Amino acid sequence: MTDGPRTIGEIASYHAHVYYDPTSGRGEAERLRNWMGERFLVTLGRWHDVKVGPHDQAMYQVAFAAELFPTLVPWLMLNHGSLSILVHPNTTNPRRDHRDDPLWIGTPLAVHADKLPEEAEMEHAPAPNTSPTLRP
Ligand code: ZN
Repeated sequence: MTDGPRTIGEIASYHAHVYYDPTSGRGEAERLRNWMGERFLVTLGRWHDVKVGPHDQAMYQVAFAAELFPTLVPWLMLNHGSLSILVHPNTTNPRRDHRDDPLWIGTPLAVHADKLPEEAEMEHAPAPNTSPTLRP
């Protein structure tokens, strides 16, 4: 049996989960969210001020197309401030995407991957809900 490497064709899109402390960190999270919306064609998800799914802290999700990775992710490296951000690929295995294959910007947090399925439909990037007017 000759198992080759996985290919990036497995990656339908990406998520960035921006974590914040709902009492002290919401302002910073809001500023970053506004900055992103002004600069990137992404889908900004709802605010979750309480823990949801596999996530161990309040957060909002940013869904984006694979083509955006080389500009959005470095920009987040420079601009995350004190916030922790989980960037993960979306393949057909959400548990592996979150637990084994993500990258962290800022301080890594716990992820309760056991709450995620090992098999799911590929999640392509939804239609962006931002209207960027500035360059990154
Ligand atoms: Zn996600």
